[in-house]
Order: sequence, then structure tokens, then C-alpha cells
Amino acid sequence: MSIWHEYVQKEGTIPEWPYPVNYGKVTEIMSDVLVVGGGLAGVRAAISASQMGAKVVLADAGHAKRSGSGGAGVDHWHGACTNPCSNVTPEEYTKACYDSMHGYHGAHVRFIITRESWDSLLECEKWGLQIRDVNDEFKGADFRDEATKLLFAYDYDNRHIIRVWGYNVKPVIYNEAKRLGVNIQNRICITSLLTEGGKQGARVVGATGVNTRTGEFFVFKSKATIIATGGAGRLFQFVPELTASASMSDMSSAGVGHAIGWKAGAEFVNMERTGPNTLSGFGYAPYSMGNSSNTYHGVPIIDANGKEVPWVDAFNHPIHTIGERFRCGPGQKFQLGIGIGISNYLPEYAQNDPVNDLPERIRKGEFVLPLYIDMTRMSEHERRVLWGLMVGHEGKTRIPIYDTFNKGGFDPDKDMLQAPVMNLDGYANSCFWAARVNTPSHYRAGGGSYLVDWDLKTSLEGLYAASSSTVYGGGCHGESHATGRYAGRKAAEYVRTAPNPIAERAQIEAEMSRVYSPVRQDRDGIGWKEINHAIARLMQDYCGRYKNELTLNMGLRLLRELKETELASAYASNPHELGRLLECSSLIDFGEAMLNASLARKASNSTLDFHRMDHPAMDPPEWNKLLPIRQVNGEAKTRELPLDYFLKAPFASGYEENYQSHAGAGKASRKEMSR
Ligand SMILES: Cc1cc2nc3c(=O)[nH]c(=O)nc-3n(C[C@H](O)[C@H](O)[C@H](O)COP(=O)(O)OP(=O)(O)OC[C@H]3O[C@@H](n4cnc5c(N)ncnc54)[C@H](O)[C@@H]3O)c2cc1C
Repeated sequence: MSIWHEYVQKEGTIPEWPYPVNYGKVTEIMSDVLVVGGGLAGVRAAISASQMGAKVVLADAGHAKRSGSGGAGVDHWHGACTNPCSNVTPEEYTKACYDSMHGYHGAHVRFIITRESWDSLLECEKWGLQIRDVNDEFKGADFRDEATKLLFAYDYDNRHIIRVWGYNVKPVIYNEAKRLGVNIQNRICITSLLTEGGKQGARVVGATGVNTRTGEFFVFKSKATIIATGGAGRLFQFVPELTASASMSDMSSAGVGHAIGWKAGAEFVNMERTGPNTLSGFGYAPYSMGNSSNTYHGVPIIDANGKEVPWVDAFNHPIHTIGERFRCGPGQKFQLGIGIGISNYLPEYAQNDPVNDLPERIRKGEFVLPLYIDMTRMSEHERRVLWGLMVGHEGKTRIPIYDTFNKGGFDPDKDMLQAPVMNLDGYANSCFWAARVNTPSHYRAGGGSYLVDWDLKTSLEGLYAASSSTVYGGGCHGESHATGRYAGRKAAEYVRTAPNPIAERAQIEAEMSRVYSPVRQDRDGIGWKEINHAIARLMQDYCGRYKNELTLNMGLRLLRELKETELASAYASNPHELGRLLECSSLIDFGEAMLNASLARKASNSTLDFHRMDHPAMDPPEWNKLLPIRQVNGEAKTRELPLDYFLKAPFASGYEENYQSHAGAGKASRKEMSR
């Protein structure tokens, strides 16, 4: 029986819980390196630690073969600055990100990414990912390099973003991890970090977790631990039943990796940063509607009468041909491309786009709704690379968009794809399916990351971070591969001389008691969905776009009360619900860190989209600094740090110098630039 409806109609009831439940059964697993989270970054970390000879265990809340935001594929790979055709150096790319973010960016991490993104991609090719046009489908295309057969996206002059046939990227790296003997524990929700002597701020010696099918308890003891759990997509809104896209990321994206570090006493940075959550369930399913952003970059947009919307560069110079949309005009250094974890772009690095006064032009009647994208106006190469390679391989598009539309008869050689019909301001950004107007502005996304050094080590001994959201300076696909690969190497180096991990029994027992509390509660207790919704509402209200000391303190109090009352009496009727409730507890810890960080910054900040009503002055120079935050005995403590701390003592003053002295055994070779 294949589908839910058939089952319920035939049986007249929903199915029984299909796994044996063994609450309280304990399994202990020892390793050199424990990787928490098996997305791209986690699997890559496991591979590189394993390649260095470490005994590696990876615990993932889902199944590491497809879990995480990258599990459904990738079509364009960013930051490949050392590929043979690139005209952008790692230094230039790093500077572009750092300057665009006015310094609020972990540029050392960005440098590591751009030094190793291409090498990470080459490894994927070795393991079975197609990264070149080996069948010469696009021979002669503007975006192809004939010698290497690489295809480029966004910026055909500078060639640092590579189009890839990536629908199977996750199984490819998963298989390599299995081949190397990584012990992969799927369906484990990690719940806490273990520390030496059970003390906050001490060396991390492993983690605890619960199996979300059997309810069994796991104790992982490790000499080093790497956090690679992604972000906290369920913190500000929770509507998973809506278009299956309430969070563009994974449902397990619940900030657990941050929360367990917060409780263990690690330092975080930029936790006060938020931005509008355009990827909420109130928008459209990702990539499903006509638009000309990201994967659809460059495609012509026409109105209901067939009139084409003009394009401009970031300096507002008109762009006349489709080909020029992928080229740099006067004043443009290179196009960074979007989706790389930065929220601001200086014009010299921004992408070409449809005119930015499109809402006004529609209002005045120059263009008539609805709008469409018309791929027939593109060259055959451009059309096929978009509808085929890109939409066929991008995350969350292969089955729901590409297959479904094709089966429904959609033909890009003659059909057009309609853009959403929406409030006109939604047309100001060409990513129409994620238009801001569809989500209220106090529904935010954000929070910061672990503060890391040039080893991607956190402030706690034995604890490393990789991945797009857990590490300060990360952002997307190639970046998760590169940071995972690097952190895995550094952790493996560390364990060669690190003492054996000794876990504190009392700490484990206290965590077991906390973990099983929801299955001991009265069945009248409310469930995880209500709790998650309440957390989201509190965060929207008290940590939304506008805040002051009073609202932030109220938010802290209400989160604490929610934890002590509703969450403490919430009931889990099976191990899956138990895992989700434990994630809710982590969401509260994540929220607590954000609210405290927001209290500490007593000034508004435009880059962090941070608005303190009681400190309205925007960007006062004396607040131009980082405020690392950690929890000590239940209290939040902050300190001050220069924005470019990674180029100041004890580190060297240059990126390459630091890279050379930290990157270790697997460091990438340097490409000579052709110009
Ligand atoms: C639809 C879509 C399309 C995208 N397209 C592109 C693209 O074309 N190019 C590009 O560069 N980027 C793209 N991205 C972004 C990119 O996919 C992500 O940045 C990247 O996958 C992040 O990987 P990660 O490993 O860092 O984190 P995640 O993918 O978030 O992985 C985190 C992992 O941690 C696990 N986890 C979480 N909590 C726990 C816990 N408590 N215990 C154990 N495990 C836990 C999760 O199960 C998951 O496997 C896209 C993203 C999406 C969603």
C-alpha cells in the first residue's frame, strides 16, 4: 500500500507506531571525533576526519543519505575561486563579502571557503558527481569553458560559480563516508553536550541523544566534537503544513546545535542579527513561480501584453541584451551571486536585475499583471541549461517542480511560467516566490553563530563548528562542504594528542531525566506543535523587527515561563514527538541567547537589521564591534571584540598567512591567476 489515504480508507484507522519502543535503554559509543548533524557539512567533516585516520561517529536527526537543506540537490556551486577559469581570487571574494557586510562577517571563514570550495567540488567529482559537460550538451555555449567543460552561472566574465548536475550530491558524499567506515547513527536527536567534570565552559567530551524511532538513549563519548546542525528555521514561524515550505530548510532545523553549545558555555556572535523571513510558509513553494532570481537568473520577464521588463546593473545602467545580464558593466568588479549567507551587497559586487522601480511602473500602468517568464526568448543553450540542468538539479525542484510540470505538459520551448500576482511591492525583488510582502515584517529569520578561530574551533576546547549557519561566516552549499572538510581535518589533528574523554555520570543522568520527562507527563499535556507555535509567537512579538529593553526582558520572562509551565508538562506520545519536544526546548534556549544578545547591543545597526526603539541612533561608530555572548551559570555574559578579530593578534595580519599556518595537512594548493 503506497499512500496514506489508501491505508486509512482500508484500515479505518491510523497505523500503530511501527518501531519497538525502549525508553531508558542506554547505548554508549566511543569515538575520536563525533559529528553532530549529517547535512553536507557534517558528512564532509566525517569524511575528512576519517581520511586523517580518526575513528568517526556521525549522528543525524534524519537519515544522512538525504537529510539537510542540501539533501534534495544543488545546481550552482558558489565560491569556487581557485577553479582554473576563475578571475576572482579568494582575497577579492573575501573582501567583497566583508565590505558588503560592513565588517559584520567572519571573513576568515569566507577565506577558508574560497580557498577550498573548488577542491571540495573536485572531490565530489571523484566520488561520482557530474560537474562537467562531459556529454557536450552545451558545446559552444557562452557559459562553457571548452578546455575544462565547466559551465558557469551568474557571471560569465569571472567564472567563480559552477553549474553542476547535483541532484545526487548527498548520496554521493554519504556513500563515501560509508566507504571510509564512518559509523553513521541516523534518527538520533542530539540533546546535550557532555563536558569534562560536567562543568560549563570545560572541554567537550561528547554528547547525548535520543533515537526518534525507538526512544533509546545514546551516550557518545569523543575526544573532539563537531557541530554541523544548520540553523533554527522553526524559531520565528511554524506552519509546516503550509506548502511544505514553512521553513525552506530542513524540519530538523531547530537550532539544537546552537542551544547545546549555549548551555555548555560556548561563545556566539551576531545573535542579535535578524532579517525578514521571506522563505516562510506564507510565500510560494521555492522556485515554483516565474521569477528571474537565483536559479532563474537572467530569464526575460514579460507582462500580460508581452511587453518585456528592462534590466539594469547595480549602478542603474541599462542592460540591452540577455547575454549582458551575465556580464559585468562599468564599475562592476564581479557579481557575487545570491544565497551565500550575506544580506547586503555593495553595487560593485551585486548582480544584474530587472529594473528596481518595477512596482512603480506596474502601478502607473506601464506593465500589466500578471507577469510571466518567457524562456523562449533565450538562446537554446540558456533555455536548456535553466529548464533541465538547473531546475532539474536544484534543491526541492527536481520532483515537485521539474517532474510535475513536465508531466503536466509544460514545455519551455513554447510555454511561459506565471509569476505570482501579489501586492505590487513584492515585485521590487526578482525572487518573486519569496517576496517580502507575503510575510509580515516581524516574522524574522536569523540569529548568529559560534565564534570560531582559524581552526574553526569554538571557544570550548574539543568543540569545532562547520556548516552554513553554525559557523560565523558560512552561507551555502560549497561553503558547507568546505567548512566541513576543514573542521573535520582540524578535529582529527587535535585528537592525536587529546586525552581520552571522561564523561561525568551525574551529567548523563540529569540529561536522561530531562529527556524522558515528556513521556512521564499526563496525557492531557499539550503537544510539541502548540509549544513550537507559542515560541514562534513570542519571538515575533518580543524579538521582532522593533524592540526595546522592556519588550526584550518581557520576552525572556515569557520564554522562561513557557519552559517551566507548558513545556514542562507537555506530553509526547511516541519517540518522534519526544524528539520534536526536545527541539522545542532548544528553540527556547536559542531564543534566550538572541534576546540577551539584543539587550547587550544598545544601538541600532543597519547591517544587522537591528532596531532598538530605545537606542534609535543608527550605526553609531562606538558600537561598531562584535559582542560575543555566552551563558555562565544561567546568566548571559558579553564582551567586546573588533570586527576583524581574525586578522589581529594572536593571528597574523593577512588571510593567506593565517591559512598557511592553520589549514594543516589537507590545505588546498594556490592557483596562479591568469591575469
Ligand atoms: C531548496 C534549497 C535550494 C538550495 N540551493 C542551493 C544552491 O543551488 N546552491 C547553494 O550553494 N546552496 C543552495 N542551498 C543552500 C544549501 O543547500 C545549504 O546552505 C546547505 O545544504 C547547508 O548544509 P549544512 O550541512 O550546513 O546544514 P543543514 O543542511 O541544515 O544540515 C543540518 C543537519 O543537521 C541535522 N540536525 C539538526 N539538528 C540535529 C540534532 N539535534 N541532532 C542530530 N542532527 C541534527 C539535520 O538533520 C541535518 O542533516 C539551497 C537550500 C535549499 C533549502
